[in-house]
Amino acid sequence: MTSRDRLTTYRGKRHFDRTVEPQGGRAPSGDAPCFVVQIHDARTLHFDFRLEVDGVLKSWSVPKGPSADPQDKRLAMPTEDHPLEYRDFEGVIAEGEYGAGTVIVWDEGSYRPLPGRKDRSRTFGEALERGHASFWLDGSKLHGGYALTRFRGGGPGEREAWLLVKESDERAGHRGTPDAHRARSVRSGRTLKRVAQEEPGEQGSP
Ligand code: MN
Repeated sequence: MTSRDRLTTYRGKRHFDRTVEPQGGRAPSGDAPCFVVQIHDARTLHFDFRLEVDGVLKSWSVPKGPSADPQDKRLAMPTEDHPLEYRDFEGVIAEGEYGAGTVIVWDEGSYRPLPGRKDRSRTFGEALERGHASFWLDGSKLHGGYALTRFRGGGPGEREAWLLVKESDERAGHRGTPDAHRARSVRSGRTLKRVAQEEPGEQGSP
């Protein structure tokens, strides 16, 4: 599947004349695959955890956000693949649109896949498809090994559920995720509230 095809669900949920979100299809991929964590103040406040895989951002909604503590098992619900340009998105999704609400880029950086214990020949995308992958994050806030593991679903029509867990390594700690309302954008230093005040929510509005 090309990355264009993989974005069909993403595009199908959105009206690009009404949302300031990117349509996708232009961003070149960097040297190392990227990751981004956004905070999204939608119907429910959550973190969106995204990893660049094969030309798109594989995405999970993580209600409590990632933790540096290996004891914390954070629920991660898969959402549709997003275009690579989405890593730059910080702003307000207009009322009435899918995911309406404010988004900040909380953390970003690059990652590298960590070799699987069972089959080292598997690509990172294949490992994810089989329901388990671990990777090393080099972000501004998040560092070290993390693993994503599917624990439910995967069958036809079944909603998948995953866990995002910090691995026990030298970057593990006991810091939980900071309060999403007080957290600041790694890009602009702004809080959710600040972005909501400053950004136009619709294309073309002042
Ligand atoms: Mn979201």
